[in-house]
Amino acid sequence: MQTIRGFRDILPETIGLWQKVEKEAAHLFEAFGFKEIRIPVLEKTELFARSIGEATDIVEKEMYTFSDRNEDKLTLRPEATASIVRSYVQHKMYASDPVRKFFMIGPMFRRERPQKGRYRQFYQIDAEVFGIESAYIDSQMIFILNELFKRLGLAELSAHINSLGCPECRPKFQASLLQFLESKKERLCENCLRRMDKNPLRILDCKVLECKEALTDAPATLDHLCPACMNHFETVKRTLSEQGVDFIVDRSLVRGLDYYTRTAWEIQTTTLGAQSAVAGGGRYDGLVAELGGPPTPGIGFAIGFDRLVEVMEQITPPLEKSLDLFIVSLGDTAVEKAYLWSCDLNRNGVSTELDFRGKSMKALMKRADKLKAKYVLIAGENELAQNRVLLRNMTTTEQVSLTIEHLVPELIGIIKK
Ligand code: AMP
Repeated sequence: MQTIRGFRDILPETIGLWQKVEKEAAHLFEAFGFKEIRIPVLEKTELFARSIGEATDIVEKEMYTFSDRNEDKLTLRPEATASIVRSYVQHKMYASDPVRKFFMIGPMFRRERPQKGRYRQFYQIDAEVFGIESAYIDSQMIFILNELFKRLGLAELSAHINSLGCPECRPKFQASLLQFLESKKERLCENCLRRMDKNPLRILDCKVLECKEALTDAPATLDHLCPACMNHFETVKRTLSEQGVDFIVDRSLVRGLDYYTRTAWEIQTTTLGAQSAVAGGGRYDGLVAELGGPPTPGIGFAIGFDRLVEVMEQITPPLEKSLDLFIVSLGDTAVEKAYLWSCDLNRNGVSTELDFRGKSMKALMKRADKLKAKYVLIAGENELAQNRVLLRNMTTTEQVSLTIEHLVPELIGIIKK
């Protein structure tokens, strides 16, 4: 049996980096006032169709959707924002305090064409803020991403930012975009032509090379911003500069989801080839109301955890976990004693390993070496007959004889010092 295409195991050999990122991210989010939220993996299809947008790649062709036994249409979550907004509205969180900050870490599912950095089950680290319209929060979200990546030792990254405007300035922009698209009609792919009526903004996100070339001079949202959006974007740029966060204004950045308004951004790396975006986010001031809540501004980002780890693998030597103690026990009595000591040591935070297969001293020492044990405890029949064991420090090769009377506390004292 094999995993399904685009799905993969994350094996213990690589889990160290995942855990390091999780710890660092949770620590940072908590310092900025974010609380962890856990949302279901499965939701009603309608939630994603309505929020991400019917005419997006995700909703049109990438969702894992199926009918439940009672014919309800369900979808494995392709992203977290929609579910977190649903949760905010469902639990009427806005009633007690509209300002909420959440983070979550977990798997997402999109039926994309798998390749390096692109999987059908992938992981995201997600952060969302509700109830704050101020542009300072936009800067802060980008600042947090920048800080997290800095702490993880990542350098070759750049923040691409753009403003997508608001319902006030969108219609003017759309009209000018449509006019431009009409003039390029014969060069656009079928998908783009189909989207011209439904959702022309999505055409700017088309990955087909021909379309990309045809769209190089396309009108930009930045040229159509209303004074309020312009002001908002200026504040974001000014504060990011003041905070020393490098960014590039990318007029062509539109992101692949429909709900974004005003600031949108992507953190890109030069080290991952085609899949260059390690994180993306933006403001979505209309989404809470769209999903049945009161008008509430929102903003969030998602980090591609798999890609982040792939970038880190290029710069971080593998984190090797070593073992505190290997117990070499020879003979049945010794094995039983070793078993009892090991449990006692483990619950006191000392990692141990032992062997129940009756192997020779030589084989066991070899295994201790392979497991990179810092200490080896040798409990042979002769030693035990005198109620003693030998403890060898594998770094210095020094050996001491210990009595078994208060062995566990004594070992803890030596090993944990
Ligand atoms: P999005 O939700 O599309 O804005 O994606 C946010 C981030 O998730 C992207 O910048 C990627 O790093 C990551 N991501 C999106 N799709 C995939 C995928 N299929 N496989 C791995 N990472 C992904």
